[in-house]
Amino acid sequence: MQMTDFSKQIVDWFDKNKRELPWRQSADPYIVWLSEVILQQTRVDQGIAYFNRFLEKWPTVDSLAAADEQQVLKMWQGLGYYSRARNLHATAKEVVASYNGLFPTDFNTLKKLKGIGDYTAAAISSIAANQAHAVVDGNVYRVLSRFFGIQLPIDTGPGKRHFQSLADELLLHDDPGNYNQAIMEFGALQCVPANPSCRQCVLQQGCFAHAHGLVDKLPFKSEKTRNRNRFFNYLFIETTMPDGSRGVYLHHRKEKDIWHGLYDFPMIETAAETSFGALCDSMKWRELMDKTPFHLQQSSAVFKHQLTHQTIFAVFYRIQIKPVLNDLFEKNVFLTHRNKLDKYPFPRLIDRFLIDNGIYG
Ligand code: SF4
Repeated sequence: MQMTDFSKQIVDWFDKNKRELPWRQSADPYIVWLSEVILQQTRVDQGIAYFNRFLEKWPTVDSLAAADEQQVLKMWQGLGYYSRARNLHATAKEVVASYNGLFPTDFNTLKKLKGIGDYTAAAISSIAANQAHAVVDGNVYRVLSRFFGIQLPIDTGPGKRHFQSLADELLLHDDPGNYNQAIMEFGALQCVPANPSCRQCVLQQGCFAHAHGLVDKLPFKSEKTRNRNRFFNYLFIETTMPDGSRGVYLHHRKEKDIWHGLYDFPMIETAAETSFGALCDSMKWRELMDKTPFHLQQSSAVFKHQLTHQTIFAVFYRIQIKPVLNDLFEKNVFLTHRNKLDKYPFPRLIDRFLIDNGIYG
């Protein structure tokens, strides 16, 4: 099959099968960018709700630039990988400061913006300005590796370069934005990761992986990324506020670690699962609580939370203390009203604990 036949078949398939998605109504680079950043984090069905909420609150790049970072993180809550949300905000500010609020559409200019790499720059420049730059994302790797039978690992430099140059060759230069969307949609709906319906596939006849029984082997990766287990022991410390209402101690995560800029509770990380007694004997407990008298109300079951390369095992200890001076705790820990917890951006794990225990509101 000719390269152009492959590309035309993909576009024909797209014309008949594409989903009506809110961001497809527009070629505004701000809208394309917003949707791309959200979709790098989540599935389309969940992404639609986030996209609509973002656009309703911040309909222009100027309005997003003027937002408070905490509001942006709160809106992003549940998507994970919060550096993307911070980059989103930083980029909006940069567009206002350096480009008069006109979102760039040129590939090379886009790549100078924070958080915008080859993939996002290709998507925006092709969809918003018809520039001929081919996108290569997970969907594209899958479709190309299977159809052309490419067994080069997609997580190595030579593999990435090979796929990019093949994608560039396949790009339809008279309609690059439509072609880019078509091949990604083909990977998302037809050539899916597990058990694609090859019998109903318009590309079945020329597909190498289908002919050679390699569909479940491709794309090929050089090595599995190592996963790290971490054990978090959270202290959900409640007390009475000076005004008599219920208060909770929060921790603002400022360390170089996951969830930077978000909030959780004072926490002791251990090398393995541990008992509450062992926790109380630890140095970190003494640093955190000193000799503050407390009453342990409840210990939670273990919450397992999977991140890209880390598995978090978290236990939450609900503790009551009498009112104490704030400076008893380390500097990023502070007391806040329990009924104001829904104002803070939390990692998904903390959100789950608060929801499961009916603590919000
Ligand atoms: S035949 Fe199967 S593996 Fe090949 S492109 Fe179609 S869905 Fe993908």
